[in-house]
Amino acid sequence: MEPNAPSFAAPAAVCPHWMSTRVLLAVCAISLLAQGVLIVVDPQAMVALNVLIALDFVFAAAGCLISCASRQNAETRMLWILVACGFLLSIAGQIGSTYDLVMKLPQTTATISDFFFLIYGIPVLLAISFTSDEADLRVLFWLNGAQAIVAAVLIYFQLFTILPSTGHLAAISTTSLMDVYNAENLTLAGAVTLRLFGNPASAKRRFYVALSIYLWSYAVVSLILGYFELERNIAQGLQDVFWGLPCLLLLAVLAFWPDGSAAPNETNKNSNRSIGLLVDNLSPVLFTLVMVIMGARIASAYPWIGFASITIAVVLYGLRAALLQGKYLRSQQDLASSSRALVDAVDRLQDISIRDGLTGIYNRRHFDEVLLAEWKRSIRTQKPLSLLLIDVDHFKKLNDRYGHPEGDECLKKIAEQLLKKLRRSSDTLARYGGEEFAAILPETNRESAQLVADAMRMSVEDLKIANEDSQLARVVTVSIGVCSENAMLNRPAEELLNAADAALYRAKKQGRNRVQFA
Ligand code: GH3
Ligand code: MG
Ligand code: MG
Repeated sequence: MEPNAPSFAAPAAVCPHWMSTRVLLAVCAISLLAQGVLIVVDPQAMVALNVLIALDFVFAAAGCLISCASRQNAETRMLWILVACGFLLSIAGQIGSTYDLVMKLPQTTATISDFFFLIYGIPVLLAISFTSDEADLRVLFWLNGAQAIVAAVLIYFQLFTILPSTGHLAAISTTSLMDVYNAENLTLAGAVTLRLFGNPASAKRRFYVALSIYLWSYAVVSLILGYFELERNIAQGLQDVFWGLPCLLLLAVLAFWPDGSAAPNETNKNSNRSIGLLVDNLSPVLFTLVMVIMGARIASAYPWIGFASITIAVVLYGLRAALLQGKYLRSQQDLASSSRALVDAVDRLQDISIRDGLTGIYNRRHFDEVLLAEWKRSIRTQKPLSLLLIDVDHFKKLNDRYGHPEGDECLKKIAEQLLKKLRRSSDTLARYGGEEFAAILPETNRESAQLVADAMRMSVEDLKIANEDSQLARVVTVSIGVCSENAMLNRPAEELLNAADAALYRAKKQGRNRVQFA
């Protein structure tokens, strides 16, 4: 393999990020170990334990930001930033619950820390429901922001029936809170797993796999610890060390799955495209669905808020659909116009490929094709086919005296003149070689061909292009060999060509500036 092959270059560039994620993983593992030791040594050290758990979320957020900074496309960076925001909210929640602990607040109802722990799911769900279509629509970014705010308000009302600022906090019980947590965790884990079915490109696959491992382990840990807390009344203890486990697993995925050098829009070639499309199209509905369910739940306590949030969710979804439809239509139009341009370019290219660069008339290649086609047609129709070979007389002398550029100009004028003498659209004039031209006249007999040939010869002479060294007429003239034949089966078209060439040879022999028949 060559030393500069891409598979060699990629890990080297990725290495620094990959190393720092491994360091984070090690620090997180040490933190978990320290938590275990701490709580075994001093079961009352719950505040210190909570601070260490907050640190685990800090490590996870740092892991996301490192992944974001590594070589990835803008879309994947956006996903990592959203998840990092989720971790920041978790950190806020953890700080809140540490505060509750320090202040010895009763742990029977939801507190403001639960609010932060719940809204952590908003940026995470935004990341999960984010699709490539949205990446370049800036306005959708703001729509998602609006959705996130509405969702946060809904979560707030789910938790607290009265605003805490009034001092009469009537929050939901810890038992109902556990149900809300479990519902959120399982929804997020299920949603990200669904995205994996879309067979995302490798950078995004790394994101979805890492996130699904985090979300599933978090859902399981939360379910089990919730059970301990509520059913067995073991509120705090050694089991709390497990809160950091999902962060450790996330960092392990990031550390041992280096961010590859996948092309930005590379997709899995063997994937089932229709499942991928279905998942992509369903993803934006996820957030709307969650908002509608939350709105419906809250409607019994706050009908207007429930109604408003469902309306907002539906309107935002409609707006998103309209924007994406507009984008789709625009890209269809762009596609149509670029394919039209492509067809035009191919047409132009095709035309260029059959034209002679100097004179603009057809070239030898096209002449050969037309001759063969007309020869076959002549066999079918049993109509005569005429071929004219036209050669400029003493052209070398013209070149020698006036120079090559003058010779070129002369060839152009002759081609133009000869073209004017063709009578039918089916007639073809081509540049056969250096200063030789050829005309194919389908369904043309000897008499008609003679008329055309004579007209051509005279019209070139009438141009009166000086050729002083030609002893013939002191002007440019042409000799023409003509062959008219009824094509017959089993005879090649070259026979016609050879006969016309022989006639041209005789025209030259007999003094030039004349027409000779085969
Ligand atoms: P004849 O009457 O026997 O045909 O004599 P001739 O001088 O026309 O024929 P000859 O074959 O001796 O010379 C043809 C010349 O045409 C030689 C070549 O330099 C010139 N020629 C061929 N292609 C081009 C071209 O594209 N541009 C120019 N300026 N000259 C060309
Ligand atoms: Mg010649
Ligand atoms: Mg010549």
